[in-house]
Parts: sequence; structure tokens; C-alpha cells
Amino acid sequence: MDQPARRHGDRYHGRTAVITGAASGIGAATAERLAQEGAAVVLADVATAGETVAARITGAGGRALFVRADVSAEADWDRVVDAAHTFGPVDLLVGNAYTVEVAPAHELSLDSWRRQLSVNVTGSFLGFRALLDDLRERHGAVVLTSSVHAHAGIPGHPAYAASKGALLSLCGQLAVEYGPEIRVNAVLPGPILTAAWDRVPADERARSVAGTAARRFGTPAEVAAAIAFLGSDDASFVTGSHLVVDGGWSVVKASA
Ligand code: NAD
Repeated sequence: MDQPARRHGDRYHGRTAVITGAASGIGAATAERLAQEGAAVVLADVATAGETVAARITGAGGRALFVRADVSAEADWDRVVDAAHTFGPVDLLVGNAYTVEVAPAHELSLDSWRRQLSVNVTGSFLGFRALLDDLRERHGAVVLTSSVHAHAGIPGHPAYAASKGALLSLCGQLAVEYGPEIRVNAVLPGPILTAAWDRVPADERARSVAGTAARRFGTPAEVAAAIAFLGSDDASFVTGSHLVVDGGWSVVKASA
């Protein structure tokens, strides 16, 4: 079979990656980027639109499988692992799936709090455990998608922010405990134009863009490029790190 065009080199040649939340946005862009660099990719998502992303990758000559999986359901991870093993042992886990419900703490139901923590944090914990043997054997890597929300207080996001902060703590913990075999890093995107912004009012969008040094939204591909770096041998001495990909949003906020 023809290989996909190597616009970005072939750092992932012969490797297998699992990306959660890969049916859209940053996850889909990451799956496409890793496949372009030679990886066989498994796209895990609750949304069946992941089929379309996988088909696009295979249509371009890449290797991809979609698995309908809820990252917070332990049993679903068995199917993700089985699918990945049709390619080979897993070299990279990108823990990226998330859910958010906007409400201040006093209006947030306990069910909603639990759901957000469960998908956003427990999902990556379960994925890590499910893939641990492979990652150890392959001296693999994990990239967790956190957020600038981990550090900034943005009204209406108590569970989301707590989950993104927890991912940073988890990143450090796993990096220490499973090094040197496994590297674990996090990306902290700022405003990236994905479906996540569909329900955000125009004035709030404009404020977010104005709050970046780049004066624009980032693209999913720009975060995917950072994830692809952290998961690759180019980042062989990078572990436990938090890479901010926010067009300068955090430094603008810090200097305000
Ligand atoms: P998105 O909505 O485009 O994609 C999220 C995907 O996660 C969806 O395909 C959704 O179906 C999937 N998903 C939700 N619950 C799931 C579950 N239980 N199991 C499996 N999949 C599930 O959003 P996005 O903007 O691409 O966000 C990707 C990551 O980037 C998230 O972790 C988010 O917190 C982070 N992030 C995004 C931004 C931004 O501005 N877009 C900023 C900071 C951080």
C-alpha cells in the first residue's frame, strides 16, 4: 500500500498510537498528524464521527482504526487495546477526550462534577493502565491534553479546571514513577478553534482572541504538532513537562 505523503517526516514510522477524543478537533488533528508521520493510529471516541476521520486517514494511505469507546468505562479499554494490537504494541497514548458543563460551583450537580472528572481524568488513568505493559516494553510516551484552565480561574468551570489541574499532577506522578521507560508530558492549549467553541457567545470568543499575543485562535493542527513533538524521539529528554500552546494567552494574562 502507498504510504501517506510525508509532509512532516516519519518520526512515527513503525509505531502505534492511541488517541482519545479523536473524532474531532485536536484529537482528530493529532491522529492525522501522527498518521502522516507514519504511525498506525487508533481513534477512540464516543462519537461515531471518528469513523470518518479514520476513513480519511486510510484514504490518504495511512493506517487507522476507529473504536467506539467511552474512556471512563474500564471495559471499553479492552476493545481499544485489542484494536491497537492488530497493528502492534502501543508506543504512544494521547489522553485527550474531555467533557465540560459550564456552571459555577454552587449550581453544579454532583453528577456533573463526577462525570467531568471521570472522563477528563479517570479516562487517562484507565488508558494508561490498560496500555502500561506496551508502553513499558516499547519505552513509549504519554501526552495528556490539559488546558490553560489548569492555572487560570475562568468563571463557570470548577470541574473542568480541577480536572485539567489534576492531569498536570498525574503527568508528574506518572513521569517519576514509570521513568525511565515511559515519558509523560502534557500540553496546555489556549483558545483553539474547535467544536468546543460552538456554544461560546461571540463576545466571549472575541475576548479570548484579544487576550492572546497572536491575536487569533490557534488551530487543532498547531496543538497536534506540539503533541507529535512530545510523543516523538525528538523529545527524548523531555518528561514531566507542561507545554503551553496558547498563542501567548497565559503571558498576556500574567502581564495584565
Ligand atoms: P472537541 O469537542 O472537538 O473534541 C473532544 C472529543 O472528545 C469529541 O470528539 C468527543 O466526542 C470526545 N469525547 C467526549 N467524551 C468522551 C468519552 N467519554 N470517551 C471518549 N471520547 C469522548 O474538543 P477539542 O477542543 O478538540 O478538545 C480536545 C482537548 O483539548 C480536550 O481535552 C480539551 O479540554 C482540550 N482543550 C481545548 C481547548 C480549545 O480551545 N479547543 C483549549 C484548552 C484545552
